[in-house]
Amino acid sequence: MSITENVNTENVDIAGNLLDVERRIREACERSGRRREDVTLIAVSKTKPVSMIQTAAAQGILDFGENKPQELRDKYDELPKDLRWHMIGNLQRNKVKYVVGRAVMIHSVSSLKLAEAIEKEAAAKDLRMPCLVEVNVAGEDSKSGIALQDAEQFVRRIAEFPHLQMKGFMTVAPYVEDPELNRVHFRALKNLAVDIGRKNIDNVMVNELSMGMTGDFEIAVEEGATLVRVGTGIFGERNYNI
Ligand SMILES: *Cc1c(COP(=O)(O)O)cnc(C)c1O
Repeated sequence: MSITENVNTENVDIAGNLLDVERRIREACERSGRRREDVTLIAVSKTKPVSMIQTAAAQGILDFGENKPQELRDKYDELPKDLRWHMIGNLQRNKVKYVVGRAVMIHSVSSLKLAEAIEKEAAAKDLRMPCLVEVNVAGEDSKSGIALQDAEQFVRRIAEFPHLQMKGFMTVAPYVEDPELNRVHFRALKNLAVDIGRKNIDNVMVNELSMGMTGDFEIAVEEGATLVRVGTGIFGERNYNI
């Protein structure tokens, strides 16, 4: 892919890309005996203009992922209110206010301090904020997320926040050339969800598993993902310099 292609967002065939991603999700569901309606495709629109989001929405996509709180706020405010926004990136406590009341889900809860800030903001706005606990399944130093072995204890703590609704887990798997290498990590997250689900903790649901990106979403679907987060595969490469 050339640099000019990266810069020009207009020549990306979003409709064609969506057909391709959709077919691959469907086939992964068929291979693993899952129902297509149990997997939601989140189009990760970070850095991409509103016009490209409108193009995807015209193809029937309703779920969009953003990783910057102000960008999520601005796009939410500008676009039709039937779109559903997912906060998928690192969230600082002082920016929680931009997200609570706009996002349908925060995928990246990975510290007690952040959970407390979400609780406070959701209480002030009189709503319950659906959240996922981010787990660092591969134990990578560079990644945020709770360690697998600490996840249960963490879940039990955030279960005490009445305005935070724990819905499941999220992970960002390692960057790998061969997506098969991430199967073990997706399976580990699924196993964690099953284990914690069996404990029947009050105010804790583990129905949602947010895992799989452009490079590995088919494997994630085969291993039980209910939310896949696909950016590049829909909107093309991101350019952070423009
Ligand atoms: C950017 C991002 C994605 C999408 O990545 P692609 O490889 O472009 O599909 C998914 N999840 C998170 C948390 C991201 O930040």
